[in-house]
Amino acid sequence: MGRRLASAIWTLRRQAAGLALLSLAVAAMAWISPSRGAEAPGAVKVRFGGDQAATRLVIESPNPLQSKLGDAAGQSLQFSFSGLSLDDDLDGSGRGLVRSWTLKRVAGTVRLSLDLTRQATVKRRFLLPPADGIDVYRYVVDIEGAGVVGAPAPSPALAPARARPAPAPEQASNTLADVVQIAESLHARLTRKVIVIDAGHGGHDPGAMGSRAREKDVTFAAAKTLKARLERTGKFKIVLTRDSDVFVPLENRVEIARKAGADLFISLHADVGADPSVHGATVYTLSDQGVDRAARGATDSGSFLNVKLPGRDQSVKQILLDLTQRNTRNRSGAFAETLIDALGRRTDLVSRSHRDAGYVVLLAPDVPAVLLEMGFITNRQDESALMDPVRRGRLMDSVEQAIETYFADGPKLAMR
Ligand SMILES: [Zn+2]
Repeated sequence: MGRRLASAIWTLRRQAAGLALLSLAVAAMAWISPSRGAEAPGAVKVRFGGDQAATRLVIESPNPLQSKLGDAAGQSLQFSFSGLSLDDDLDGSGRGLVRSWTLKRVAGTVRLSLDLTRQATVKRRFLLPPADGIDVYRYVVDIEGAGVVGAPAPSPALAPARARPAPAPEQASNTLADVVQIAESLHARLTRKVIVIDAGHGGHDPGAMGSRAREKDVTFAAAKTLKARLERTGKFKIVLTRDSDVFVPLENRVEIARKAGADLFISLHADVGADPSVHGATVYTLSDQGVDRAARGATDSGSFLNVKLPGRDQSVKQILLDLTQRNTRNRSGAFAETLIDALGRRTDLVSRSHRDAGYVVLLAPDVPAVLLEMGFITNRQDESALMDPVRRGRLMDSVEQAIETYFADGPKLAMR
């Protein structure tokens, strides 16, 4: 396939995406979140995502919770939860591999039973603390169907992942959505995902100082390793925000990502703490305040955050920007979750690993972005690990794995 075809499809995708977003915006105006008001705050909720190959279940709870996996019996799965408080037993129908579910209070704990459509195993379970604009704990269970080899090709979701099938304002937009979807999947097959790796600090800005290591050196070394790991897969195009020990202003880093059309931006840093015993990695996504700042920049034509939006109507522009930002945040959040999951298998994580921050490098309203504090340079063990090419390489293996997982099943499982 020639470059020209790819770029023609890209153009089509861009134009069609604008129009589709517009119709989505119209639909969004038609039903101003009627469900939100109906849900009691603090209530336990169960949500599903995915399909017959892999299904994600999310339990939302105002309190942190833990589960023990019971014995699998035929086509069902049992979990017993502590920390989950229920006023009433709950049940409902599932999705994908889960036919139906019940939450029952049994002898001081809460038992979750899943009735499956076929044999399946639990691939992973993890708890996400309130973050990223969400004020509840989320307990995530990923279930995989037995005997599944390779998931079906992901269809990149254009609309924010949580959008339910909104009533289409007219038939024409359905056809358009179809065209967009076909163009999107063609585009995905023709092009590699663009990952922008940002090595924190550089040049006259050394970043944090350990007893031996300088942050700017370990971030640069890690960035180069991650680049090599990702390029080896042949699936990604990698752009570095700096490829030597130079100072790059934060705004320029964001601009580099946006000009490259980044599908993902990952900024690498090393943390510093007053207490030398504090160690572990942390993943940051954009905070609410950051979102507001990004929104202001997006509509300011002089700002590095400015977004070109179709049309002249300010209120329509505002809605389009909102949708773009929400979609970006959803994707950033989904990647952060995948990254924490991958890191958690090999690395210590600080107790609240996913945090919000207003970092400038996370501000682009249209580029999914996370900032990874790889460890504490002020902690003896973390500092040694960050300076050691082998251990640093293992850390980057986890990051690479998370990026692959995110692009392989991110669009399929992404939900909020
Ligand atoms: Zn830093």
